[in-house]
Amino acid sequence: SSMAARVFKIASIPGDGIGVDITDAAVQVLQKLSSTFGTFSFEFNTLDWSSENYRQRGFYAPQGGVEGLKQYDAIYFGAVGWPDVPDHISLWQMILPIRTTLNQYANVRPTRIIPGTLSPLSACAANPSLLDWVIVRENSEGEYSGHGGTTPSTAHAAHTVATEVSIFTRVGIERIVRFAFETALHRPRKKLTMVTKSNAQRHGMVLWDAIFYEVAKEYEGRVEFDKMLVDAMTVRMVNRPESLDTIVATNLHADILSDLAAALSGSIGIAPSSNLDPTRQFPSMFEPIHGSAPDIAGLGIANPIGAFWSAAEMVRWLAGSDGNSNIVGLVSGPGVGNMVHAADCLMKAIENVTQAGIKTRDLGGASTTKEVTDAVCIEIGQVY
Ligand code: ATP
Ligand code: MG
Repeated sequence: SSMAARVFKIASIPGDGIGVDITDAAVQVLQKLSSTFGTFSFEFNTLDWSSENYRQRGFYAPQGGVEGLKQYDAIYFGAVGWPDVPDHISLWQMILPIRTTLNQYANVRPTRIIPGTLSPLSACAANPSLLDWVIVRENSEGEYSGHGGTTPSTAHAAHTVATEVSIFTRVGIERIVRFAFETALHRPRKKLTMVTKSNAQRHGMVLWDAIFYEVAKEYEGRVEFDKMLVDAMTVRMVNRPESLDTIVATNLHADILSDLAAALSGSIGIAPSSNLDPTRQFPSMFEPIHGSAPDIAGLGIANPIGAFWSAAEMVRWLAGSDGNSNIVGLVSGPGVGNMVHAADCLMKAIENVTQAGIKTRDLGGASTTKEVTDAVCIEIGQVY
């Protein structure tokens, strides 16, 4: 064609264990998508920020590495962590610095039951459309502030006291609540549920409630909204999944609720996650929610669907890079390089493959990562 394809620079961080297998698979699928469409392409730069790197050199990301991510259009992340390195090291040395440096304050986690996967909820197994949620997680403050301390030290171990300080700011709450309302507004059901624990926690949670109702006034009549306590919310997710659509919660609460959501949808191996800078000043990061799964690493049987779905979310986000939208998946029109259509094709290809029974072991199938990946690539060519 006469139009030059738009080139996106992507930093790829495969990480550890199955993070490497599923990132390879996602790159293959993204390349297939771009060669099929011809209107956009990806230039990948692979960064070795792994536990092996930490063992040999004492760090995950090198000095200045996180800053260096600013030159990319997006970041694709596999999974990090290995049993011989405590989880909090990779979290505090790499993951959290990426999120804060790049202003990725919104973590978005769609959950639905894709064909060929089986929800443990019998109602949803019979009618998969009952479960269709987007969890919006506050990704920059709250319970994971890192503030606090432990005292006294070893001399008086029996009297040790540890504090873990949650930090909630008006700016932080307001921007995530508004982002969640915008997300809800652009979904078919236009419904938002906010989750806190304001009956027991008297400060930050109460501020969340107050700001939620303030922002809600702007959406009165356009978005239906309600409020839940987090304990009651777990019950509602299990008993009345169809009553929920978009969900917004704090860093900790949304972390827990999204694991529950992934389990209810059938497998942790299919769930995607986007770490967004809604202002689009810095690149956003896309990753499956599962970890490095050391128990199946190197066996070639990891489910790549969570990685593919995350790749589809990245494509949707990049589709809006002309400033069309700051909400994932909600670009008006086809977006840059027809990429909204490309993301839809990728999702359709995934669903056709799982529907046909080409599934990894965690979904009750017998296919390998490579077999699923090859099948999705072939299917992209079919559904295009
Ligand atoms: P993290 O601390 O990073 O969350 P984790 O060890 O708690 O990691 P996972 O690494 O996600 O959790 O693994 C949990 C279980 O789910 C393991 O038994 C793993 O084999 C399985 N699992 C996770 N991801 C996949 C996948 N993509 N395909 C198949 N099985 C998976
Ligand atoms: Mg875990």
